[in-house]
Amino acid sequence: FRKKKIDVDALIQRLIQGDIPSLSKAITLIESTNIAHKEQANLIVQACLPYANNSVRIGITGVPGVGKSTFIEAFGTYLTSIGKKVAVLAVDPSSSISKGSILGDKTRMEDLVKNKNAFIRPSASGESLGGVSRKTRESIILCEAAGFDIILIETVGVGQSETAVHSMTDFFLLLNLAGAGDELQGIKRGIMEMADAVIINKADGDNLKHAQNAKLDMNRALHLFPLKDSKWQPKVLLVSAFYNKGIEEVWQLLEAYFKLVKANNFFEENRNNQNAYWLKETINEQLLSNFYQNTEVNRYLQSAERAVQNNEKSPFTAANELLALYKEHHTFNKNE
Ligand code: GDP
Repeated sequence: FRKKKIDVDALIQRLIQGDIPSLSKAITLIESTNIAHKEQANLIVQACLPYANNSVRIGITGVPGVGKSTFIEAFGTYLTSIGKKVAVLAVDPSSSISKGSILGDKTRMEDLVKNKNAFIRPSASGESLGGVSRKTRESIILCEAAGFDIILIETVGVGQSETAVHSMTDFFLLLNLAGAGDELQGIKRGIMEMADAVIINKADGDNLKHAQNAKLDMNRALHLFPLKDSKWQPKVLLVSAFYNKGIEEVWQLLEAYFKLVKANNFFEENRNNQNAYWLKETINEQLLSNFYQNTEVNRYLQSAERAVQNNEKSPFTAANELLALYKEHHTFNKNE
């Protein structure tokens, strides 16, 4: 084991100088379930923190097929052409089931994958949302320390993962299609409400007219939401990711947003609030998993459940007994 021990300090130094293999290796440590790796990962993240603030973090969501990969390819390539360094990460807790529904298929990011100013990392598979989210959040910090100034975080627009991505990004971009109702697209009101911009993609060919109408409808819908804390009024843009149309306008919109929120301090406040949020999230998650993995709790949980179902005990009594048992027998396991 000693022989395999990696030199964490040297790794950190190389990472901060922008060495991609070191960045990849550090992210692998973050994703590892091995306790020694986790300790090393914590050291690395901590050392990277001071270098991690010169960036913008953009969340990108939309149902499968809307064109996220195609858009990220076009947008990422554009950003590198104006001198930016772009990292693409994913929050996709479903990937173990769907065998990599996002970022798994990199064929639509053919150019970006080869671009030396871009870094693409699919999400860790087979993980709970909490696990993937934490790893993605820590990976953001490492990418930023390695000099990536634009971080794109992709997620599939079907569930809880949007909220997680929203709480780790500065700007939230929703990709949509014209012609299908919101219900059909599975876009929930809550997700619309989080969006700082809605892109109507595939605004090309026969679809262009529909897209223009959809833009008007969407604009009207967005105006019905209360003004955001950022004081930013969400915008709707027409894009054809496939034909590379409207891409520059997306960046101009983002620049306008960042100008506003940096001037009115929302940018910094929001990031501070996000840090506080993730502190609590991490504690909640670790306490929960620690509780349910406790051997004593496990031994009595089923019988407690039966007792509650048979009305022999009240849920409150049973819960208190289990919590008391946990308190008596718990050992805090850093591996969780
Ligand atoms: P994702 O599942 O959201 O990542 O979607 P993909 O990027 O894989 O795109 C799904 C399909 O839509 C592919 O066949 C793309 O070529 C196509 N597509 C993506 N963007 C556009 C676009 O702007 N116009 C047209 N016509 N097709 C597009």
